[in-house]
Order: sequence, then C-alpha cells, then structure tokens
Amino acid sequence: MPLPYESPSGCDDRTLPLQKSAMENFICVQCGTQFTKTIAPPSRCPICEDERQFVRHSGQEWTTLKRLADDHRNRILDEAPQLLGIGTEPEFAIGQRALLLQSRGGNLLWDCVTVLDDKAIAALKARGGIRTIAISHPHYYSAMVEWAERFDAQILLHIADRQWVTRESPRIQFWEGTTVSLWDGLTLINCGGHFEGGTVLHWPAGASGEGALLTGDIIQVVQDRRYVSFMRSYPNYIPLAAAAIRRILERIEPFSFDHIYGAWWQANILSDAKATIGRSAERYLQAIGA
Ligand SMILES: [Zn+2]
Ligand SMILES: [Zn+2]
Repeated sequence: MPLPYESPSGCDDRTLPLQKSAMENFICVQCGTQFTKTIAPPSRCPICEDERQFVRHSGQEWTTLKRLADDHRNRILDEAPQLLGIGTEPEFAIGQRALLLQSRGGNLLWDCVTVLDDKAIAALKARGGIRTIAISHPHYYSAMVEWAERFDAQILLHIADRQWVTRESPRIQFWEGTTVSLWDGLTLINCGGHFEGGTVLHWPAGASGEGALLTGDIIQVVQDRRYVSFMRSYPNYIPLAAAAIRRILERIEPFSFDHIYGAWWQANILSDAKATIGRSAERYLQAIGA
C-alpha cells in the first residue's frame, strides 16, 4: 500500500509527517459533530453522553467527511424568499436542515449540517456565499468549522455553550449577554432553555417585512405546526421549568415577527407566530402545573 504521505526530499524522518497526515477530524455518527484532529477516533462524544442526546444503541460510532461523501449529499430547497434550506440526503445524525438567510449586508448561515458537497458549495456561492455562521445550540454545531473555512466566514456562538465546542478554531467568536446586533437589523437573542446558550435569530425583513424568528429547537415548531414547544431534552423527554419558559417569553418580547422557521424542513409557522408562542407557553405552563 502506498504511503499516504510522501516525505519532502531531504527529510529522513517520516514518522511525524506520516502521523500528521493520518490524523482525521472524526465525526460522531449520532449527533454529526466534528472533532479536533486525532489519529484514532475519540473515546466518547460528550454531546451524545449528555442527557439532551443519546449514544446510539449499537454504541459510539465515528465517520469522516470523506466517508460521508460516498453516500450522502446535500438537499437544497427554498423555504421562503431569501431563505434557502440546506439539509442532507439520506438523513444523517439529528437530521436538521440549515438556512441560508440572504441579506444585502451579507448572508448568514443559520445553524449548520455536517455534509457539504460541491453542488451545495456552488449553490451557496451563487447566492453570495456566507458572511457569518450563527448556531442556535451545540446539537447543530455539526461541521461548522469546515463550512467556515470553505466560505471564509466567521462563526458566532453564545459563550454559555463554549464547553460543547469539540473542534476549536480562530474562526469561532463567542458572544455574551442577552442580544447581539448584526447587520441589516439582524439580532441574535439568547433565550436559554434547551441549552444555557440557546439562541434564536430575529430577521426583521422576513415575512415580507413583518419579521421572522429562526429558532432551531430552542423554540420547537411541533408536528401540527399550530404550536411550539420547549424542552430540556427532546429525545429523553425532559421538560423545562416554568422559569425557563418565562425567560424565553421575556427575551423575545421586544421583537415583532409573524413567521417562525424551525429546525426541520417546513417546520415553520407562517402566520401570527408571536401570539402562537404565547398560546403555546400558556398551554405548556398549564401542563406542568405552573
Ligand atoms: Zn455525538
Ligand atoms: Zn437540540
């Protein structure tokens, strides 16, 4: 078998560069998160071992982007004007779709997926590429550093979730506090709840100027798409306490919006979205006896 690394001429010691070239950014198969380069796969995935996720029943498994490229590709579909959905086919890991929000001052990638194929790169570049990647919470960190490098973008994460970053990069910028203003009126809002750093994005130009909220699963659009819900753990059914629900309501109160774009294909609420969150919170608080 040929060596994967050809030693530069004049260099006799092949050990170090050989090891370096054999290092990989392994990806957890269950949550899709990519890790810092190592020779062997990491022993565990802290995101999956946390009570908000789970280790797959057959045990911890790893893959790489190269291997994923053999049988996965991106699915690209408009979710709304100026809002392009990017997912994965067949579904991989948690199964969310990201959203490319196109705006005059630059495009923002909201949340992320692991797979990034050439067709998706071309489609996104044709729409102006990515200025910044902002992510709602660690379940969607996925291969964010790969994406940032490919599009020469920065990544904005809330500092409260810093411990969940599994691949460090100078492209990652942590923000703190309750809101951060970006360009064209875009605002990241820290709601907490599902994760302490849980973030939603307010897009004032969305919904034809009525405003939209991009929520990941910090505010989860439920199956009937007439309500939203909020959980500490979705797979393990751990609800949130009343104080966390009230904090989410407080944090979004100053913003007006008519649409919500959730974490999954067409998991969107396309009218009266702010009142929908109010009604949903009321129903939830009643259900937990608060
Ligand atoms: Zn994992
Ligand atoms: Zn989640």
